[in-house]
Amino acid sequence: MQSLKVLFLSAEVAPFAKMGGLADVCGSLPKALAALGHDVRVSLPAYGPIEAALSKGEMGIRAHPTTLNVPMGMGLHIPAGVLEATIPGSQVPVYFIAEKKLFGDRWAIYGFKDDAYRFAFFCRAALDFFIAAEGWRPDVVHAHDWHAAPALVWLGTSGLVDPRYASMPTVFTIHNLMHQGTAPWDVFRYLGVLTPKMNEEKPNQVNFMARGILHATMINTVSPTYAREIMTREGGFGLDGLLRYRHFDVHGILNGLDYEVWNPATDPHLPMRFDANNLEARKVNKRALQERAGLPIRDDVPILAFVGRLDPQKGLDILGHPLHLLMNGHAGEVQVVVLGSGWPQYEQMLRHISGFHRDRMTAFIGYDAALAPLIYAGSDVFLMPSLFEPCGLGQLIAMRYGSVPVVRATGGLADTVRSGVTGFTFGPYDWESFWRAICDALWIYRLDPENWRAMQIKGMTSDYSWETSARAYQQIYEWAISRVRGY
Ligand code: ADP
Repeated sequence: MQSLKVLFLSAEVAPFAKMGGLADVCGSLPKALAALGHDVRVSLPAYGPIEAALSKGEMGIRAHPTTLNVPMGMGLHIPAGVLEATIPGSQVPVYFIAEKKLFGDRWAIYGFKDDAYRFAFFCRAALDFFIAAEGWRPDVVHAHDWHAAPALVWLGTSGLVDPRYASMPTVFTIHNLMHQGTAPWDVFRYLGVLTPKMNEEKPNQVNFMARGILHATMINTVSPTYAREIMTREGGFGLDGLLRYRHFDVHGILNGLDYEVWNPATDPHLPMRFDANNLEARKVNKRALQERAGLPIRDDVPILAFVGRLDPQKGLDILGHPLHLLMNGHAGEVQVVVLGSGWPQYEQMLRHISGFHRDRMTAFIGYDAALAPLIYAGSDVFLMPSLFEPCGLGQLIAMRYGSVPVVRATGGLADTVRSGVTGFTFGPYDWESFWRAICDALWIYRLDPENWRAMQIKGMTSDYSWETSARAYQQIYEWAISRVRGY
C-alpha cells in the first residue's frame, strides 16, 4: 500500500478547538491514518484561545516562519500568519491559519454573522499555505463539514486553471447535514469564484454544504445508517435529491473512538481507574460523581446520565417528560446527572427540574471536559434519545466506560448499540417509547444484575477503535485518486 499525502481541513480539531464530535474525529482519525503510514497534515483557524495559548506557551503551539498574502477574489490579498503544533500523542502536524480580525479576536468557533466569509478565507489560506507556499501537494484534500467546503468549491472552479491545484482528488465528510453554511452570494466574489446557482440554493444565497456535495470527488458520512437517512426526504434537510443524484459516491464510515484519550484504565480524570475485569472499581467513581453532584451517596440507586449539546437534535424535546416521571418515583429510586449547554429553553428546563428535586438530580450547565469522563465512569445508564445522530460519540464513550446506553435507533446509534446486548434502543421519536426503554433498562438493572454486568462487559470490550475506520477512509482516498487520475 502506497503512502498517501492527505490534507485535513476542519473548523474543529481536538484538543485545540472543540465543540463536539467533529473535533474528536479530526483529532484522532489523522493519528490512525498516520499509524497506517500516511503523511497527514491538519489545518484549522487560530481562534482567540489558540493565539492565547501561543503567547502563554501552552499546548506546544509555536509560530511558523511563513507569512501568507492570501489571494482572494477581486484582486484582494489578505496577509495571514501560520502557527504550528502536533496532535498530542503523535507526530501529526497541525497548522493554524492566523488572521486577527477573522479568528484571533474571536473567542468562539462559530456564531458570527461573517462565518461563511471567515471559513472561505481559512480554506483559501490553507490551500495557499500547503500548496503554493510550502510546495506540498496532497494526494487528497479531505474537507470536513460545510466550513471546509469552500476549499472544494475553489478547487473545483477557479483552482482548475492553475496547474498547482488542478485535478485534485477530494473527499468531503458530512458530520452533520443540518448545518449547511448558507450565506449571501457575495461570498463567492470574496472567494474568487464564478459559478452558476444550484437548485438547492435560494436566490442570492450560497449553500456551502450543497457545494461540497456537488464538487467533492467522493463523499462520506459518519455512519452507514446516517448515509441512508440523508438520502430520504425526512433526513435530507433539503439536500436529499442532490445526495441521491450522487448516491454512487456516498459512503458511510463509522467514527471510531480515540482509545488513548477514552480509556477507563488510564483516564487521568477518574479517581479510580478500571477495566472490564475490575468493574467493582466503578463504585468509587460512582461515589465521587454523587459527591461532586451533591447527591446522596448510595450504591444501590442507579444514576442515569446525559452529556451533550442541549439542542433539539439531541432529543431534548422527549427528555423532559421522562425526567419528571423519574423524579416523581415512577421507576423507583433513581438519580440523574446532566452535563450540557446550548439552547436557553433546555438549560432552563433542566435547571427547573433539578431545582425541584435537588436530592435526586443535578444539572451542570456548561462545557466541562474534565467532568464528562467522571459522568461516563460513574453513571449506570446513559441516555441519548437523539432526533437524529450522524454517528454519536457519547454512546461509544459510555459503553467503553461501562455505562449502559438507552438510545433512539437512528443514524450511528442504530449502528453501534445492540439492543439487549450492549444497550437499549427505541424507534419512534416520542417520549412514551423513550420511557419504555428507560423502564426496560432499570428493570434489568434491578432484577437481573448478572445480565446487566454482561451488558456492561460486552459494551466495554466491543471494538470501536479507529483502526477499522481508518482503513475504510484509506479505501475512499484510493477511489477518489483513481477517479481523478483515471486508473
Ligand atoms: P455532537 O458532535 O453532535 O455534539 P457527539 O456525541 O458526536 O455529539 O460528540 C459529543 C462529544 O462532546 C463527546 O466527546 C462528549 O463527551 C462531548 N461533550 C458534549 N457536551 C459536553 C459538555 N457540556 N461538557 C463536556 N463534554 C461534552
